[in-house]
Amino acid sequence: MNDALRITGVTITPVAFRDPALLNAVGVHEPYALRAIVEIDTDQGITGLGETYADEGHLHRLRQAAEAVTGMDVHALGAMYGRLADMLNGQTGTDGHGLTGVITSGGTVDRVFSPFEVACLDIQGKAAGRSVSDLLGGAVRDRVPFSAYLFYKWRGHPGAEDDLWEEALTPDQIVAQARRMVDTYGFSAIKLKGGVFPPDQEIEAIRALRAAFPGLPLRLDPNAAWSVETAIRVGRELDGVLEYLEDPTPGLQDMARVARDVPMPLATNMCVVAFEHLAPAVEHGSVRIVLSDHHYWGGLHRSKLLAGICDTFGMGLSMHSNSHLGISLAAMVHLAAVTPNLTYACDTHWAWKTEDVIESGTLAFENGAVRPPQGPGLGVELDRDALARLHEQYLQCGIRNRDDTGYMQLIDPSWAKRIPRW
Ligand SMILES: [Mg+2]
Repeated sequence: MNDALRITGVTITPVAFRDPALLNAVGVHEPYALRAIVEIDTDQGITGLGETYADEGHLHRLRQAAEAVTGMDVHALGAMYGRLADMLNGQTGTDGHGLTGVITSGGTVDRVFSPFEVACLDIQGKAAGRSVSDLLGGAVRDRVPFSAYLFYKWRGHPGAEDDLWEEALTPDQIVAQARRMVDTYGFSAIKLKGGVFPPDQEIEAIRALRAAFPGLPLRLDPNAAWSVETAIRVGRELDGVLEYLEDPTPGLQDMARVARDVPMPLATNMCVVAFEHLAPAVEHGSVRIVLSDHHYWGGLHRSKLLAGICDTFGMGLSMHSNSHLGISLAAMVHLAAVTPNLTYACDTHWAWKTEDVIESGTLAFENGAVRPPQGPGLGVELDRDALARLHEQYLQCGIRNRDDTGYMQLIDPSWAKRIPRW
């Protein structure tokens, strides 16, 4: 009988890292993005890492969860999920920025459990001398392709220095951003974050990208900024141009109306964001592709469960990203490597990031793809100095909850959030 590997303590460290002025349907990214780093200690001295959101309500729930899991065996993940579900007792978190749809009580458990599950898998892997990919059933691909994630953006935050990327407000500037990103990372697909300008301007940008990159699949994600009628018009105009259209309009019912009348598949990370959304999405025919994201689908095992459900019902699978650091990228790459039907290039905000909490060198983009780290567990190590620096930045920056709309309104008081806007 193996000894248990018991959790002796959990440290949760909120961090802030610099983020460029990236525009979206609900406003603009603030100067710092927040994450929480979860470190689990065990009685055998093996430690594990997880990474998640750091809004205040979520941080509060993480701290409650840290107490609840202390003393548990890192292999008892089913029991841990049950204990956190009991602890949360139907609590429902909020999505202050409004970009990830309706959060349910089940989705709240999945969000809280996820970084603990990832950290426990990191520990299990280190104890067994195997990678997280091996623990999840073994890699079916040795490189995980990612897409270039383009944003309309200002040259910098108002009142601050220009950031490392140029202004991008016109189709030509978007093409220039894509050129630089594809040249630097070798990405094999391109996604434009839309919902920023009137749809005709964004159609023009997509057409400019098509002309400049004839061989690369293109995606457009307006984050539900369009009415059903507008979404159908844009979808028809971009016939043959888009690989998929992501969340053109809000809600399962209206997505289904659009899906019936546009030629390309619809994808989502807004109307299917929890397990209870899957049955109605299948029933209505709302989407043909679901964007997975282990941060809100309950960790890596439950993301594989999502993959199986999508496969069963003939839906495709892609991967969503929020601004993230290297612990998350390692987890994303292990998950993608073991998921056969994750056949689309994954999203990542990696190119926009200038700071991290992990030792550099283990995660590298080569021809637009990342190889799963080979070391045991996740295969990444904390850089303690960087963690301390980014935690200090968190303490100093004043941001405690992501609020793209509030930040935009500080800059332009007349700006109003409207979903759909056009
Ligand atoms: Mg999206």
